[in-house]
Amino acid sequence: MSIMLDKKPEREKRPAPITVAVAGNPNSGKTSIFNNLTGSNQQVGNWPGVTVTKKEGRLLMGSTKARIVDLPGIYSLGAYSEDEMVARDYILSGEPDVIIDVVDAGNIERNLYLTTQILEAGGNIVIALNMLDEARKQNIHIDIPALAERLGVPVVPTVARLQQGMKELVEAVWEASRTSKPKPFRIYYGELIESELEVLEELVKTVPELTARLHPRYVAVKLLEDEDWLHKKIETLDADTRERLMTAARDSISRLKMHYGDDLDSALIEQRYRFIADLLKGVVIRSEDKKEKDTVSEAIDRVVLNRYLGIPVFLFVMFGMFQATFTLGAPLSDIIETFFAWLGGWVAGGINNLLVSSLVVDAVIGGVGSVLVFVPPICLLFLIISLLEDSGYMARAAYIMDRFMQNLGLHGRSFIPLLIGFGCNVPAVMAARTLENKGDRLTTILIAPLMSCAARLPVYVLFVGIFFTAYQGLAVLSLYLLGIVLAIIAAHLFKKFLFKGEEAPFILEIPPYRIPTLKTALLHMWQRGSQFLKKAGTIIFAAVVLVWAMSNLPWGVEYASRDSLMGMMGGWLAPVFEPLGFGTWQAASALIFGLLAKEIVVGTLAVVYGAGEAGLAAAISSVFTPLSAFSFMVMVLVYSPCVATIAAIRRETDSRGWTAFAIGYSLVLGWVLAFVIYQGGKLLGLA
Ligand code: GDP
Ligand code: MG
Repeated sequence: MSIMLDKKPEREKRPAPITVAVAGNPNSGKTSIFNNLTGSNQQVGNWPGVTVTKKEGRLLMGSTKARIVDLPGIYSLGAYSEDEMVARDYILSGEPDVIIDVVDAGNIERNLYLTTQILEAGGNIVIALNMLDEARKQNIHIDIPALAERLGVPVVPTVARLQQGMKELVEAVWEASRTSKPKPFRIYYGELIESELEVLEELVKTVPELTARLHPRYVAVKLLEDEDWLHKKIETLDADTRERLMTAARDSISRLKMHYGDDLDSALIEQRYRFIADLLKGVVIRSEDKKEKDTVSEAIDRVVLNRYLGIPVFLFVMFGMFQATFTLGAPLSDIIETFFAWLGGWVAGGINNLLVSSLVVDAVIGGVGSVLVFVPPICLLFLIISLLEDSGYMARAAYIMDRFMQNLGLHGRSFIPLLIGFGCNVPAVMAARTLENKGDRLTTILIAPLMSCAARLPVYVLFVGIFFTAYQGLAVLSLYLLGIVLAIIAAHLFKKFLFKGEEAPFILEIPPYRIPTLKTALLHMWQRGSQFLKKAGTIIFAAVVLVWAMSNLPWGVEYASRDSLMGMMGGWLAPVFEPLGFGTWQAASALIFGLLAKEIVVGTLAVVYGAGEAGLAAAISSVFTPLSAFSFMVMVLVYSPCVATIAAIRRETDSRGWTAFAIGYSLVLGWVLAFVIYQGGKLLGLA
């Protein structure tokens, strides 16, 4: 006790850290606010489902110390999918001292649904009324002081994208953290429900375990709604209390059902919306004149979302993206290539020891350098993807694919994780958390590795640059599309044979078009690019040195010959790939090491052909034909997820069986496809 007293004066000088959660509907700007407050670079995107786990950071503003937690988006506290549960549980956990509730001013009625839920539960809220710039453009006027007064919480106007209102927000949060308990907030549910709530509330008040963090009235409402988490909590209570609560709840529900039938839940929801509508009377004023911006959006959407044009437009956008990646990336790649060739020559001249010189020239410069050449196309690709995401087009692409996929009986929302898979399959596997239904989740996890991630791009760029110079964009597009098509077919089959069962409803919100911010795009590009560089410096580097060493062993063997350890290992597996058109030990070695990370495929080829970057192209063009090159690229696309993705699958499915299945089916599928392509192509007389 005395220690506590001693501490007190110091505490006042240096305030104890507080915990602040950032909550709100999907796509309302939570991550933008989080990034502004903490200086982090978490990914923002103009679509739902970008943030699926909670992310932590430290407040950088003023003298206040605070821990800030960014949450996945939710529409209400009745959560269904795993990412939503993360958000709900955290909000109700009592851990956050203050909750910044980010409200999209353009959709205020719907956003306030969550707000009123958190208030009813007893959360200490500061509202960040965000996207005010867009609301203004849509001629929506909001009387902010009136709103704050009616809700009884501070409301801070913000435009997170332009970092406006952040200082005021921090001040309001700090102020709120010092007021101990928020006032109880009451939604009026109508006479009948109110009388039941009164009874239940009195009962709940006698159970301290339930009211430690939540308002008794909120718990009473949840009893009527029969919520799962509350059940679980009640089950931990002693038998007597449990019985009393459950009986009372059952009685109330059955009395109310006499009046509302089975629509009690919708009656509660309806009452809340009615309450919000009343609350907003005179607070929100919309001018009637048609907003100019909307008509432009509508005109674009008429084409982009058109039943017949939608998919062609999507294909065209993708094609343009890959073509741009090539035409703009190639000159930059050439510069890097020339540099490494020069560096190799320079180093080789300067080192006398043959072995050391080979290590530096063949492994480090040849192997790692050959991978680094692909930094420019990768950066460009992600710059473009980020611009498309931030503009709102990607959400539309998901919508188009949804329509397409529902015809195949697949859940449309799985397309969002798949789009994320273009970057890296690991977050794609994690993004499957946004799916409510277990079967949908597993399906999505299993098919996510079929999406062509950035690590496959170097292989495509290398081979396409050698064999398909006239159709570079198209050739790469075909591989990406092949991945999508395979994913769709596989999903269809999995759903049909493995995960038969109920369908969860799918709501994909189409966000408004937004001018992408260059900062976000550059940041995204930088993150991807630096991730790639980091990989080049660590796992790729280690792997190519290992490949190089195995090419030099046993001692005295001719470098990278069939008799070297590498040659023996690859040679042992090579016959398996013979019918696919690339039965060389070099290709087999590349595929083996590619399991670690698919970028290593190129690095390994560079080392075992021992020819440096310029010579690599020559070696490949003498060993492969256009047909076997395509078959090889398909194999690289499909065969087994990389180690990091396998680990993610293991984590997310929590099942060895499914992880093994994910590896097994893709190995078989890759082999069969490459076989069909190569043998089929030969039959057709292609070489
Ligand atoms: P979250 O899903 O709630 O985390 O939202 P994000 O922070 O990812 O933002 C969603 C989209 O809205 C991104 O494209 C942001 O650039 C954009 N955005 C965020 N805040 C604002 C704002 O105040 N005004 C406008 N016009 N756009 C914003
Ligand atoms: Mg987010």
